[in-house]
Amino acid sequence: MSSHIVGYPRMGPKRELKFALESFWDGKSSAEDLKKVATDLRSSIWKQMADVGIKFIPSNTFSYYDQVLDTTAMLGAVPSRYGWNGGEIGFDVYFSMARGNATVPAMEMTKWFDTNYHYIVPELGPEVNFSYASHKAVDEYKEAKALGVDTVPVLVGPVSYLLLSKPAKGVEKSFSLLSLLPKILPIYKEVISELKAAGASWLQFDEPLLVMDLDSHKLKAFTDAYSELESTLSGVNVLVETYFADVTSEAYKTLISLKGVTGYGLDLVRGAKTLDLVKGEFPSGKYLFAGVVDGRNIWANDLAASLATLQSLEGIVGKGGHLLADKLVVSTSCSLLHTAVDLANETKLDAEIKSWLAFAAQKVVEVNALAKALAGQKDEAFFSANVAAQASRKSSPRVTNEAVQKAAAALKGSDHRRGTNVSARLDAQQKKLNLPILPTTTIGSFPQTPELRRVRREYKANKITEEEYVKAIKEEINKVVKLQEELDIDVLVHGEPERNDMVEYFGEQLSGFAFTVNGWVQSYGSRCVKPPIIYGDVSRPNPMTVFWSSTAQSMTSRPMKGMLTGPVTILNWSFVRNDQPRHETCYQIALAIKDEVEDLEKAGINVIQIDEAALREGLPLRKSEHEFYLKWAVHSFRITNVGVQDTTQIHTHMCYSNFNDIIKSIIDMDADVITIENSRSDEKLLSVFREGVKYGAGIGPGVYDIHSPRIPPTEEIADRIRKMLAVLDNNILWVNPDCGLKTRKYQEVKAALSNMVAAAKQLRQEL
Ligand code: GLN
Ligand code: ZN
Repeated sequence: MSSHIVGYPRMGPKRELKFALESFWDGKSSAEDLKKVATDLRSSIWKQMADVGIKFIPSNTFSYYDQVLDTTAMLGAVPSRYGWNGGEIGFDVYFSMARGNATVPAMEMTKWFDTNYHYIVPELGPEVNFSYASHKAVDEYKEAKALGVDTVPVLVGPVSYLLLSKPAKGVEKSFSLLSLLPKILPIYKEVISELKAAGASWLQFDEPLLVMDLDSHKLKAFTDAYSELESTLSGVNVLVETYFADVTSEAYKTLISLKGVTGYGLDLVRGAKTLDLVKGEFPSGKYLFAGVVDGRNIWANDLAASLATLQSLEGIVGKGGHLLADKLVVSTSCSLLHTAVDLANETKLDAEIKSWLAFAAQKVVEVNALAKALAGQKDEAFFSANVAAQASRKSSPRVTNEAVQKAAAALKGSDHRRGTNVSARLDAQQKKLNLPILPTTTIGSFPQTPELRRVRREYKANKITEEEYVKAIKEEINKVVKLQEELDIDVLVHGEPERNDMVEYFGEQLSGFAFTVNGWVQSYGSRCVKPPIIYGDVSRPNPMTVFWSSTAQSMTSRPMKGMLTGPVTILNWSFVRNDQPRHETCYQIALAIKDEVEDLEKAGINVIQIDEAALREGLPLRKSEHEFYLKWAVHSFRITNVGVQDTTQIHTHMCYSNFNDIIKSIIDMDADVITIENSRSDEKLLSVFREGVKYGAGIGPGVYDIHSPRIPPTEEIADRIRKMLAVLDNNILWVNPDCGLKTRKYQEVKAALSNMVAAAKQLRQEL
């Protein structure tokens, strides 16, 4: 009976790596300084796991930026524009790929499955000359060994690596990435041989692609790859690790028949069917790495339940053989990269809530305790404390709110649609709002200056009074309102100066949410997010935005948009409860936002935007689950605004440019106006409408990219609008940027918006 950890957070308990990276990038510290911080972090993580008693401790899960980029470096697959001339890849080439440099932009970054982690997408084609160009995996193995810790080196598996790549620019779309397998496997063989020579007795290949919907061609690539590696893998144990969902039964068949592989890592938390698969068939003599401790959340494990699951697996006899007790390894469901680092550093959470939680450091202890219990050495005190914590969470009045439960249950069965159809609503709204055609607006936030951040910080720390704070924010709003009037924008925003973050701001005012001080999770590179924790039934004790929105409205005669974050986005950007289905939590948040929408309406706000920036990114990995998710997500959105009058105009906003697959659901949201990111994807969105999808509501595909400091010329924006007008009716088109302006400078914002308004006016003339 033993224990295994799939992977561990790299940032450090207090984001040490982040600060070291950023100081290095700013030229404030040397490469040696950075390496020293990294070495210390790695050694403390290894020692921590060894001290706890973990048998299979991972190495090479550390990264200066991203593990997929590390693999690109290992394979020497550096795009030629970074001017690499061979040899071991150093910081300059590595960070240029990650972040760009003075002359060359960064490689593309995209979401890692359905997490909030982002990886650097390899760019591959027939021309790439692979070579063994980063010895990081071997170096880290040796580094740990020198510290007395024998680790399991972790590599991104060859098939997942290729399937996570994209064809380089200029390479034909029809190019098969998998055709590169014979070219990368020789490099993998070199790495494996070196690791074996260095003394590694286990190797871990992460092949998370195995949980996706795969056709037989892709499945065969796994079979081929490991057959090809088989002889090199002889003499070493090999774990193929999967995570984030169960594998399909076809993928499971492929997995358990891979040559050269001795252990299989399966996600028993998200994988609903994993247990049945294992019980149905398990090859004799192989190891099962049972991922029972959730790597995706911050909740303490229900140890008794996990133990029961593990015991049910012990010695199971299935087709093909049976699982021997000593080959059952307790593990995490995925890398702990996706959870917070150490609960010990939470100084502001009360003891009750803390007893319900486990961050990465605590999860390592849980895994070990389960393994020991399975081996007959149960730590009774640890287990009974866990039973008590589970019970307290179940029965705490802070978790359950009868009224909320009832209200959410009452939603079942209803459809929640506004009574009047969208075109009639738009007519009613236009009578009230009297907007020109091609109305202009922005997405919500205006630049967040250091001065503004200081005001918020000082108010939080009680260094300035509420009065001083309100005065400062009012002044800021007034500045933003006046600026928009000068620019002659039609529908104004207040600029969101009172918000640090679009989810945190609401979470702090809703009940059922808790906040950490150090609960950071890596998002990409040195960037981390600190998701709120939803621990209980959600309700809204008081209005959250009405004061600021009505203050802003009182400063202008133009319509002022109320600005809210939608329920699906709040849900997707938080750590959510695992004691009720996600959709139930989402419905509760929807009801809270509904109260806010109606209060805004009562306060005279006629246009209300409910941002659903993260609706698309919550889409489940498996196609079979899309419909259910989209149904409740869209329903939750509609609940928020089903109660408003026809004359109240509901806007929504979405980020990221991949919408084509969910356009039906977007229409089903039944918003009056949607603003949507568009400018970075060559108007890919518009192709949907070109292909005949009917859209009758207002729509504002972003006319310029806010992620770049570049000022878009008027003529360029006008061209974009013309292209949009070719596929969309002129009475539904809005003119707006891609997203909020929070990260831009005033100088840039003024110039860009001024050109945007000029372009809209020019087009109005042409129509
Ligand atoms: N209203 C938010 C803003 O403008 C929307 C941000 C987002 O879509 N991510 O900042
Ligand atoms: Zn956005």
